Amino acid sequence: MSDAPTVSLEGIHKFFGTVHALRGVDLTIAKGEVCVAIGPSGSGKSTLLRCINQIEEISAGRVRINGELQGYAERNGRLHELAPGRIDKQRRLTGMVFQRFNLFPHKTALQNVTEGPTQVRRIPRAKAIERGRELLDRVGLAGLADRYPNQLSGGQQQRVAIARALAMDPEVMLFDEPTSALDPELVGEVLDVIKDLARSGMTMMLVTHEIGFAREVGDHLVFMDHGVIVEEGVPKDMLESPKNPRTKAFL
Ligand code: ADP
Ligand code: MG
Repeated sequence: MSDAPTVSLEGIHKFFGTVHALRGVDLTIAKGEVCVAIGPSGSGKSTLLRCINQIEEISAGRVRINGELQGYAERNGRLHELAPGRIDKQRRLTGMVFQRFNLFPHKTALQNVTEGPTQVRRIPRAKAIERGRELLDRVGLAGLADRYPNQLSGGQQQRVAIARALAMDPEVMLFDEPTSALDPELVGEVLDVIKDLARSGMTMMLVTHEIGFAREVGDHLVFMDHGVIVEEGVPKDMLESPKNPRTKAFL
């Protein structure tokens, strides 16, 4: 399935009780593509990322990563729901970065980055530390590996969170408003790391309010409203001449 898109969503629905948060979302993200989602608050952007990552169970539809159906295994031509342990394994295909960095407060930057690889992926400690240092270097934090989260700025903490997600070697990185909790002067350093990842060919889906950034880094822009993708296309075209009146009103 090497020619399968990295992410393929078909008819995704999500209910929270009676709230119909996603109402039939279809989306394809090719390998190496940066997909940016914009849209008003409550339109379902976070829920969509959480469904791709399987933090949330979808109510209907299909999520595939590299052609592999998430939540299921195929045996003898039939689909079987996966046990939670196997779902955890699939979840590692997606690295998630949240608005709030959610670092382990009692662990250093380096320990935050090596925790997953050693505990979950069973990578030998020395190897995980070597790779963790490389990743902290990559996000510009080489000298701060031994600091605890409360000794780091918000921008530095978010960069540790990005390094931590990368340490699991995901197929796709999902970012949910990664700069909205930051002081304005710290936004740039996090966006620079994301830009660098985009240039390196990482497949990504990014929810953001930074329209200029969406235009700069996105290959593919989707506008969500009321649980559906209302319009999608090349960022420049869509931002300059949105076709849908709801997109137009939002921009
Ligand atoms: P966005 O990220 O675009 O602001 P969300 O995905 O957070 O939107 O929310 C979409 C809709 O789903 C909203 O109506 C929100 O209130 C609802 N929702 C999201 N998470 C939950 C939850 N855990 N329980 C109940 N409703 C939720
Ligand atoms: Mg959200």
